[in-house]
Amino acid sequence: MNREKSEKLFIEAEKYIPGGVNSPVRAFKSVDMPPVFVDRGKGAKIYDVDGNEYTDYICSWGPLILGHASPVYYEGIQEALEKGTTFGAPTAIEVEIAKLITEAYPSMEMVRMVSSGTEATMSALRVARGFTSRDKIIKFEGCYHGHSDGLLVKSGSGTLTFGVPTSSGVTPGTAKDTLVATYNDIESVKALFAENPGEIAAVIVEPVAGNMGVVPPDLDFMKGLRKITESEGTVLIFDEVITGFRLAYGGAQEVLGIKPDMTTLGKIIGGGMPVGAFGGRREIMEMVAPLGGVYQAGTLSGNPIAMKMGLNTLTYLRDHPEVYEGLEEKAKRLEAGFKANIEKTGVKAQMVRFKGMTCLFFTDQPIDSYAAVMTSDTKAYTQYFKAMLEAGNFLPPAQYEAIFISDAHTLQDIEKTIEDNYQALKKLK
Ligand code: PMP
Repeated sequence: MNREKSEKLFIEAEKYIPGGVNSPVRAFKSVDMPPVFVDRGKGAKIYDVDGNEYTDYICSWGPLILGHASPVYYEGIQEALEKGTTFGAPTAIEVEIAKLITEAYPSMEMVRMVSSGTEATMSALRVARGFTSRDKIIKFEGCYHGHSDGLLVKSGSGTLTFGVPTSSGVTPGTAKDTLVATYNDIESVKALFAENPGEIAAVIVEPVAGNMGVVPPDLDFMKGLRKITESEGTVLIFDEVITGFRLAYGGAQEVLGIKPDMTTLGKIIGGGMPVGAFGGRREIMEMVAPLGGVYQAGTLSGNPIAMKMGLNTLTYLRDHPEVYEGLEEKAKRLEAGFKANIEKTGVKAQMVRFKGMTCLFFTDQPIDSYAAVMTSDTKAYTQYFKAMLEAGNFLPPAQYEAIFISDAHTLQDIEKTIEDNYQALKKLK
């Protein structure tokens, strides 16, 4: 594929923007090539500035559950724009989306809208600390919860890809309150509680890990988290920024049958606009200003245009449960196809799927933990990524990321990707 225009744009971009990108995971640095500059998207396809077409398996890292430029997102947007874009005063649509989210997530008795997943998790932790009057939190190695200081400790996603799981610029004072446990290992959590009695404000977890690639949760581990946080008076936070409205309409908490104290949302709830949310039990959320003493605010929070696109998306998902059946069917087909290809080619790889979330790891270890993920051969992934890109598949340019599919992906798209996967794996051998 000719990507001359992308290459030129990247040279220009590097002059003005660190690494030429506004978020590190967009750089193709980890796969040692210039990134593809996107011109437009429609359905499951994106088109780069050179006119090349790709089937998109990034989907903006999760938000675009209905694919690119779906008319569903835009319904009534022109009228909304004509009324004005932001007021810094409440609008009716904020009440509508709050009602819809709290109905979909019964654990969220109250919700506050923010403008990113990062803000959602940062704010939720502050509220949990205010509520418990405790300082320390527990997170899990390889889980990513955005880039607020205290959460950039043994993190996932781009931090893993670029070798900075614990970011510089985070002060030791901040980092010392972030305790790190092992995902799917309840004993590691119990040990931290035993070492820090009465001091843990919150446990924050991705209920299905998606930022070290996809690591499905062990149900006993998740139940164990609920049990220990309940008995210790610690706030259990499910970070459902990826899984919310994706695994199911009611998110991972509906699928796993576990009710957290607080939940963070993002991605899908904005329908492609910058939106996040945090919420939880009423008594916890009543800590938030102006009701309580935990301050949290945002000039553009609950922005009416973003709310409209979010509400359009969520309403559609509520009324079309078949979207979730379709996502799972396509993910299952991808899983079966990739697994057959792995067998046929003899490449050391694991195809992991949990509901509609999938990830291909280049390792012979079964994927049940961060340690297993870290045995992956990232050089093999790079080679694979490039072969898939040339064949017209836009995959995450890093091993430690989930693949995202949308309602717009057809079974034909999936079949073509399975064939391309076979050819790419064959080349690896
Ligand atoms: N939490 C999780 C689980 C995420 O996957 C992400 C982003 N990938 C975030 C939080 C941060 O969201 P944002 O990028 O919108 O700040």
